[in-house]
Amino acid sequence: MCDHCAVYKQKLVPRAREFLGRVFSEMEAVCPSYWSPVHANEATAAGLGGTDMLQKLELVRSYLEVKHERQRQSIRRRAPTPALIRHSEGRLLKELKLRTKILAAYDWHVLSAAREQASMRRTIRDLPLRTAYYHADYCENVPIPMAHHETSDMWHGAQRKTLSLYGAYVVHRRGGKLETLIIVYISEVIEKSALLTSLLLKQSIRHVSGLSKLDCLRMVFDAGNHFRSYETCRTLLVEIPQKHAQRCVTSFLVEKHGKGPCDAEIFSVCRSWLREYLMQPGAFIDSEEKLVQVLQTAAANAMRKNPDGPRFLIRIPELPQARPSSKTMTMDNCQLLRSYCWESIPGGRKVRIRNWVFSDATASEDVSYRVHDNPEHTDWRKGYWQDGPGWRRPPLELDEDNSVTRNHAAQWHRFSRFEDFRHTREDTLQQLCQRDEERLQRRKRRREEMAVEEDSDVSI
Ligand SMILES: [Zn+2]
Repeated sequence: MCDHCAVYKQKLVPRAREFLGRVFSEMEAVCPSYWSPVHANEATAAGLGGTDMLQKLELVRSYLEVKHERQRQSIRRRAPTPALIRHSEGRLLKELKLRTKILAAYDWHVLSAAREQASMRRTIRDLPLRTAYYHADYCENVPIPMAHHETSDMWHGAQRKTLSLYGAYVVHRRGGKLETLIIVYISEVIEKSALLTSLLLKQSIRHVSGLSKLDCLRMVFDAGNHFRSYETCRTLLVEIPQKHAQRCVTSFLVEKHGKGPCDAEIFSVCRSWLREYLMQPGAFIDSEEKLVQVLQTAAANAMRKNPDGPRFLIRIPELPQARPSSKTMTMDNCQLLRSYCWESIPGGRKVRIRNWVFSDATASEDVSYRVHDNPEHTDWRKGYWQDGPGWRRPPLELDEDNSVTRNHAAQWHRFSRFEDFRHTREDTLQQLCQRDEERLQRRKRRREEMAVEEDSDVSI
């Protein structure tokens, strides 16, 4: 599960629930029948009994803010110290607003993730004419040697080497038919850097059929920083569109919700081919050449058996001997990390870049940008925690901000051309939480039933 979603579900929602309990008891303490109109009304009672925490907060807010004071003067007059009611309402309202702000931001994160996922699936399914879809990702590094019979030496660190595996899933239309091309690059260069990514992108994009003559090349990636960085974006948003005179739309899936077609269509297929190969006695792989050869043989077999299925292109990428210098870009009027969708329109001397924020958005802004040389990295690249380990951090405090709340503040007014995700919450967190809870209860009941059965066995 995504860390933001885990914080939301395990920390923020329970705290909000606890807070609501406090709102109820504290208001009752100053005004004993304060909530009776809420419970008496069928609609509000149902709202409070539901699972949508934001809706509950909103309902309670409306009462604390004005509704109660306007409509329930008689109840308020009967309170022991009526003057205290307004005071308590004000204090609780202040906290409620801060809690709502944080919850709304996390809710937005879930909706954004659903929105970009829907957009990706829609594009693959209804690929427009003269459009190609390109989706790339890295697989976990593959350790070698691999053998049918592995000796202990082969298992130990010093004797092992890892290879990187980059996969691109390309869909285009030939005649009326959708065709899939799968590109796999296997390399002993294992740094999954923006530099390596840019080189592999440029190399693989040449295999997209009809490039330069397409209406649009749609490129989609997860939000990993080897893809969503200013350096890689210089390649994606400026260099590729310019070099191939091709209009491109580049999208990034929402942070930590980047599952795309590469896992299912490329990496798990390669893994199963490898497993099959290693079942044969004498099977042995100790170089990238051999790994490429094994996968190529399996792919050729698969393509023979299913001529309408995907075409595979598996090879070692051509990389310069030494790390080449690279370029990056700076944006003057927007931030890369606050947007998920960019359009590049070549023509004239400079590529025009539009920031759409979301792939399905209704409006965009032109990006003012500069391209410049990347400072050389001479330091060792060491393992590090990107923002400090998340699991050691406490949840968000009431007046704090983080990337989730900042995204919400920057994006909430970007509406969708297709559907309002705030109203069609197919896969929203509330439902997921509810499903988990029901599953848990079912499992608990089953365990209890089994315990009862066991007991009865003993008694016999
Ligand atoms: Zn999430």
